[in-house]
Amino acid sequence: MADTAARRKRINRLKKIILGSIVLAIIIPVMISVFLGYKVNLLSRNIEELEIRLSEAQSAESQKDVGVFATAYVEESPREVAPEEVVKAEPAPVTDQTEGKRVYLTFDDGPSSNTAEILDILKAYDVKATFFVIGKTDEASKALYQRIVEEGHTLGMHSYSHKYEEIYASEEAFAADLQNLQEYLYEVTGVWPRYYRFPGGSSNKVSKADMHRLIAFLDEKDITYFDWNIASGDAVSGYISKDAIVKNCTRSIGTYNDSMILLHDAAEKDTTVEALPEIIAAIRMKGDFTFLPISDETPKVQHVKGNNEISNIKNES
Ligand SMILES: [Zn+2]
Repeated sequence: MADTAARRKRINRLKKIILGSIVLAIIIPVMISVFLGYKVNLLSRNIEELEIRLSEAQSAESQKDVGVFATAYVEESPREVAPEEVVKAEPAPVTDQTEGKRVYLTFDDGPSSNTAEILDILKAYDVKATFFVIGKTDEASKALYQRIVEEGHTLGMHSYSHKYEEIYASEEAFAADLQNLQEYLYEVTGVWPRYYRFPGGSSNKVSKADMHRLIAFLDEKDITYFDWNIASGDAVSGYISKDAIVKNCTRSIGTYNDSMILLHDAAEKDTTVEALPEIIAAIRMKGDFTFLPISDETPKVQHVKGNNEISNIKNES
């Protein structure tokens, strides 16, 4: 009897060991798979983010090659411009007739821990600017949206989530994100925002939705989008010095009647804040420039035009 009991015990123990091993053999690979899946997801997001940074950097780069940029920057003008003319366009020579030239400082990605300081500097220099903001629901951010409006700056939209993979997944996703932000900003500030900057610009290469359709959608909603013709270079994910930002913002300032300068309002972009007083001072030194917030009178600085204009150019060439 004692023998049988001992055997049974041994068998039970063996059963437990076998069962345990089987369970472990299943659980461990599953856990590893889940972990690796998570990692892959994370990495692919990083890659998408980097692609955007790259396209922003390339866009800034293309300014040096004025021939390329001239095709991108089309100022609204009543006369017809032949496509050949656009391609061959040289920058307007820098003349002493700077009178009437306008500068639009635009800050993307805020509000952030730097917004208040940016607003303080703008106030000290008596400059009005434009903030293309994203959706943030904390109290500090709400107060900053309000301060932007109260101090006479333009509150523009830059998507609610700022997650490229979501916004640009489809037209529907883009529309939903936009509606979220527009209604939210109206609720917080009492101002109905009507200006938009596409994350990565209208010429971004990551959107899965057709950018022309998104542009047409904005048009339907009576929203005007703005890109930029001068990039401060602060879109890079790494460090950029204050001096480099000042140089990027000012070296071609005389080229355009309307300079649309891309800057960022983000916690990690301290050198942008440091550069701001120098940017304003340096531009004022260069001639008679007026700093303006974006309004309905602002010429449309756009990298990609809507459907009609694109197809017109195609037909003619
Ligand atoms: Zn952005």
